[in-house]
Amino acid sequence: MNHERMTELREQLDEINIEILELLSRRAELVHEIGELKKLKGTDRFDPIREKEMLDKLVAANPGPFDDNTIRHLFKQIFQASLGLMEEEKKELLVSRKKKQENTIVEVKGIRIGGDKPVMIAGPCSVETPEQMDTAASGLLKEGIVLLRGGAYKPRTSPYDFQGLGEKGLQLIRKTADKYGMAVVSEIVSPSDIEMSLKYVDVIQIGARNMQNFELLKEAGNVRKPVLLKRGLSATIEELLFAAEYIVSRGNGQVILCERGIRTYEKATRNTLDISAVPILKQESHLPVMVDVSHSTGRKDIMLPVAKAALAVGADGLIVEVHPDPSVALSDAKQQLDLGQFAKLMDGLRSGGYELQMKPVTVK
Ligand code: PEP
Ligand code: MN
Repeated sequence: MNHERMTELREQLDEINIEILELLSRRAELVHEIGELKKLKGTDRFDPIREKEMLDKLVAANPGPFDDNTIRHLFKQIFQASLGLMEEEKKELLVSRKKKQENTIVEVKGIRIGGDKPVMIAGPCSVETPEQMDTAASGLLKEGIVLLRGGAYKPRTSPYDFQGLGEKGLQLIRKTADKYGMAVVSEIVSPSDIEMSLKYVDVIQIGARNMQNFELLKEAGNVRKPVLLKRGLSATIEELLFAAEYIVSRGNGQVILCERGIRTYEKATRNTLDISAVPILKQESHLPVMVDVSHSTGRKDIMLPVAKAALAVGADGLIVEVHPDPSVALSDAKQQLDLGQFAKLMDGLRSGGYELQMKPVTVK
């Protein structure tokens, strides 16, 4: 008898739980609708005065046995959960997969970054001389490379190191790229140079040290030119996505993310390549993701296996520094490949089964 009563009571409790659940869901729908109306009016979703009114009404109507504080506490939880729902809806970033499912493809000189096949950006760390750029570009083109990199503005750790040729460097890389039908990828460090850079570059690079230079990000968002955004030295994946959001939210959707290694205690490599960032970024965002194997490793001897690893985890492309004579390079001499070493890297990738997007071109 006792047992039957217990079962009966439990069944009633189960029913009440379901009723409460249904009421909570209905409540959430209403809150959502109110939120939409508030959005139209541009008013804040959280209204503390209204919340207090609701709580006071509940306390006034409290029949017991719960005391007033318990009622306040329980309903505050419900209010917060509903507000949380609205926050989540609001929080979806434009760069997120939740906002846009299909991959964003950034097209540069007929090369589709984020398309079916990975791409390669290569070239010297810094633009130095016409001869250096010419030799680098023609050599790279023979390997099918059309995305030519080279820094004209160099954010160097020491103020005494080579700072780059500035606008003259941009003119030089543009001239070289035009001669060979290549595209220019070059770093811009100052918001006020973005506009000027448009006549020289096909892809604006925002370097690791400037990933959270918000004014630069905003300026890059105001133009309609692809942006290669590198992850900061100590930036989290989330911070990289927020930085990309600065650009995309201003209307420039052509953003390429780049994992280039992060600061850790490890000294064997220049930075620690966060390989897991690649599939995470691909999962979280629709933007293309590239891996810079030069700045992440800082060494040539492990470049091939690291490059393969990057492609194996789904990178949309690689960035490699290549200099005709690395021993005399004005920056990053240690990590730059010469043209022969670069050809070997390309061979190694091909024979490892990694096919890259190439432009079949003939060079005299
Ligand atoms: C570069 O690509 O030239 C460069 C300076 O890289 P990072 O910003 O990743 O250090
Ligand atoms: Mn470099």
